[in-house]
Amino acid sequence: MYDYDLLVVGSANADLVIGVERRPGAGETVLGSDLAVHPGGKGANQAVAAARLGARTALLARVGDDEHGRLLLDSLRKAGADTVGVLVGGAPTGVALITVDPSGDNSIVVSPGANARLAPSDVRAAVSLFHASRVVSTQLEIPLETVVEVVRNLAPGSRFVLNPSPPRPLPSEVLAACDPLIVNEHEAKVILGDSAGVSDQPEDWARLLLAKGPRSVVVTLGGEGALVASPDGVTRIPSVAVEAVDTTGAGDAFTAALAWRLGSGEPLAEAAAYAARVGAATVTRQGAQVSFPTAAEVAAL
Ligand code: ADP
Repeated sequence: MYDYDLLVVGSANADLVIGVERRPGAGETVLGSDLAVHPGGKGANQAVAAARLGARTALLARVGDDEHGRLLLDSLRKAGADTVGVLVGGAPTGVALITVDPSGDNSIVVSPGANARLAPSDVRAAVSLFHASRVVSTQLEIPLETVVEVVRNLAPGSRFVLNPSPPRPLPSEVLAACDPLIVNEHEAKVILGDSAGVSDQPEDWARLLLAKGPRSVVVTLGGEGALVASPDGVTRIPSVAVEAVDTTGAGDAFTAALAWRLGSGEPLAEAAAYAARVGAATVTRQGAQVSFPTAAEVAAL
């Protein structure tokens, strides 16, 4: 009875990447490689990742009426995601200006552009998408008041998944809706604030996060896998051993896969184990959206 397994509400960015021998200091100009332009942003990444796995996916986002916006729409459509909720105009498409040196260290400037104009009124206008979606997932590359409006517009019986990235303190109304809240180590520490200092054990962070109100919590630990925490206890999800080439997008692919599997009725630990396989497959390839696996590739891992 649902039209979509997953509705992603979030950002869409063009990633403009230049390789440099040395990242420039203040007042300095350096020459770099040819420019590479990739579709990105956590919302678009999640929607592409879920659609590539076979989930019926829609994205609610805002892009500019420009070349970068068309690049993003094209990437979403190619993956099989529904772009009916992608609003066009109001500001230029969000951009991440990225310089990468030979050691892989980067410097990034983000212009949120149209992402900053995804407004609470856009959420209210898309209420039919909310009623058509089993799971709704979001991140924090859009205004926090828009995320609050997402929580207020969830249809009865639908499930809300949040990856608070980039992290910031969250209102209790948002925390209470999360099932689960999905964080990496850095995000866990920011959300926990001072209380994170009491322990260096991710199990303790998971319990402390759970005490802040979410119905469940997932802590992702890169090559160490993940932890899931619910009132039933904390469970460790082992990682899948792979040769990691580029970890970009691993968290987005993990979140998209987890949200989709939860929507199909899988228990949290099983959904997280599947998501860990998707995250592992993602890190075996360069790039973000181009590195997301199909379900067949996950099964073959
Ligand atoms: P983020 O990108 O948000 O920091 P993580 O790096 O924790 O997220 O990655 C998300 C998930 O992807 C991990 O929980 C894990 O399951 C998988 N993953 C990430 N890096 C690796 C790796 N090197 N080997 C195997 N799996 C990985």
